[in-house]
Amino acid sequence: MREPTTCFVAERLNSTTFKIVEEDQYLEYPQVFVKILDETLVIVDTGCGGAAKGPDVALTSLREYLETVPLADNGKELLNPGARLSYTVVCTHCHFDHIGTSLLSIEDGVWGVEQFGDHPKSLICASSYDRSFLSPANLSRNSLCENIGIRTPLYKVSHWLGDGQFLQHNSHSLPLQVFHTPGHTPDELAAWDPDERVLFIGDSFYEWVPIIFPSHGNMIRFSDSIGKMKQLIAGWNADESSSRVKIACGHVTYCADGEAILNDVDEFLWLVVTGAVKPKQSEESRGEIFDLYEGDGGKYSIRCPRRLVVDFRADEEAMTKLKRRNGLIL
Ligand SMILES: [Zn+2]
Repeated sequence: MREPTTCFVAERLNSTTFKIVEEDQYLEYPQVFVKILDETLVIVDTGCGGAAKGPDVALTSLREYLETVPLADNGKELLNPGARLSYTVVCTHCHFDHIGTSLLSIEDGVWGVEQFGDHPKSLICASSYDRSFLSPANLSRNSLCENIGIRTPLYKVSHWLGDGQFLQHNSHSLPLQVFHTPGHTPDELAAWDPDERVLFIGDSFYEWVPIIFPSHGNMIRFSDSIGKMKQLIAGWNADESSSRVKIACGHVTYCADGEAILNDVDEFLWLVVTGAVKPKQSEESRGEIFDLYEGDGGKYSIRCPRRLVVDFRADEEAMTKLKRRNGLIL
């Protein structure tokens, strides 16, 4: 039987986890990560939820994809045959290309994250750092759905995750630990898989495409989150009998050496806030100036409201911490 056309492309990331890239009409190409456990399928982000780039794509529901499309990288087996496993969705943050909207799902045409939430035993987890950021009154603005003129997915967070908390399933811990990493958004989080030694960091940063700070971004908190991730990874890498920690991002990057990429991002942030790198482009958007900074060779770039860099420079404590992390003072 011929497989239906689909906007999803899956590839094995490691022994328990698959990376699924969605080819979407907004050209975000979000990376969805699916980890198979005995009792549940953990899904880190749900992408744009099937807003396919191609007009003739037949299969656009991520859930349907997981339950009906055999994967070459999974021995031609389905990831969740017969919906046997429940879903545990972890939202790295609430932007539209991570919480997905989809017109099609297997059962009754529910949308986006909702297509997982309607599984009777499924959980939807998000950071507890700033719950009001995800409130129904604020979600359409903060998800950016309002900006691009799409329907905001309706979903209810079933588990608010505290900093350092392990995901829970039927009152026991799953091998995935969550850390608050605000900056890109207040609700940004990173999820640590200690068995596979991968840290999923959502949109905190990536290579080759701009690291984005929307209007609600915060560069001082971002810098603190980079410092926090560096410390965590240094601790995990101290165990020399295990492999080095890898980082998988919400777009493009999925197998970077954790320590190396964090050092690079930290150094680039320093060049930006000190003015050593000048804006390459500036534009006005929604009443404020956004600057694009690009490092040598284009591997790292930052697009942010000018205000955030001005605020960062004026914050002596933030500047000192960043300088220290870059080894420029003791
Ligand atoms: Zn984002």
